[in-house]
Amino acid sequence: MRIAEVHLYQVDLPLEGAVYRMSDGAHTALDSTVVQIVSDTGVSGWGETCPIGPTHAAAHALGARAALTQMAPGLIGREVTGPAAVRRALHGLLHGHDYAKAAIDIAVHDLIGKAHGLRVCDMLGGATTGEVDSYWSLTLDDPDETARVAAEKIAEGYPRLQIKVGGRPLETDIETIRKVWEATGCTRLVVDANRALLTRDVLRVDRACADIPFAFEQPCATVDEIAAVRAQLDHPVYLDESTESLGDVLRAISLGVCDGFGLKVTRLGGLGPMATVRDVCEARSLPHTCDDSWGGDIIAAACVHIAATVDPRLLEGVWLAEPFVGLHYDSAYPVRVEGGRLRVPTGPGLGVVPDDGALGAPVASFA
Ligand SMILES: [Mg+2]
Repeated sequence: MRIAEVHLYQVDLPLEGAVYRMSDGAHTALDSTVVQIVSDTGVSGWGETCPIGPTHAAAHALGARAALTQMAPGLIGREVTGPAAVRRALHGLLHGHDYAKAAIDIAVHDLIGKAHGLRVCDMLGGATTGEVDSYWSLTLDDPDETARVAAEKIAEGYPRLQIKVGGRPLETDIETIRKVWEATGCTRLVVDANRALLTRDVLRVDRACADIPFAFEQPCATVDEIAAVRAQLDHPVYLDESTESLGDVLRAISLGVCDGFGLKVTRLGGLGPMATVRDVCEARSLPHTCDDSWGGDIIAAACVHIAATVDPRLLEGVWLAEPFVGLHYDSAYPVRVEGGRLRVPTGPGLGVVPDDGALGAPVASFA
């Protein structure tokens, strides 16, 4: 089976009347890029990458499409023996830009799965479950309103809550954490600063909330800053934005700078690298999420498939943009959070296929 065509699509993902606020920006719509790889046997595989704006990570939507345009011609005619071989070929076409390569990696997994009647989760080692936990992200808002939403989400069935902090007075962050805790009693709380807190402020939050069980997620901008205060903290620390590669994960583990990770499939370069990180985390008994920054049904399905293969005691959950986005690509088999949980798709490959016309016309095609 060879790659005969590659098509790129640009999709605007509107938020349903909401603003998603975190320390590094407020978002009302996201710009997603979808990749379709068509084989010479007529099978299509789908991939997606959707950075959450240009300031969240070293990734942006225009960069994704430029990188994919650079690489796509080099894929035409290539035999699809397996995802790792395609990944190595991509490194020979463009240095870096793993978040763009991820869309191709996901599409290749989907293509092989659909060609052979295999689910992606089975290709990645085998699902341990038919359903995985999601979690709710409480974006920056008034403390009382945040606590109200938190209680509502726990009542809906969400087993875990992430509280966004940073970019505002520290007293408001501390008040928010306390009010969410008092409103829910949820013991699976994460306080995510998205890199925004100074080390001084992390110490203040740690002490002011000493009685509240939560883990910090990416409290400071760098691993070095986190390492500087880590020994003084009572609360566990997870890394998110600082893990841009397997090498970053290995460095963090070797430094002993964290107790777990918030992981994003596209940031790490796709499902193949994510499966390697999953295995490294399992070898060191480190919990982690299987998220992505944003995106539609394709990236959502990819996250659920890899999450279903994680040792259940280490899976912190799958965050998806789906509850915020008023759009599904696949009307027959959309990926939806229901009662705070996600069902693993049952169809071959990713188990989703965009409806005809759902993505509009390609913005670029290669054959
Ligand atoms: Mg995070």
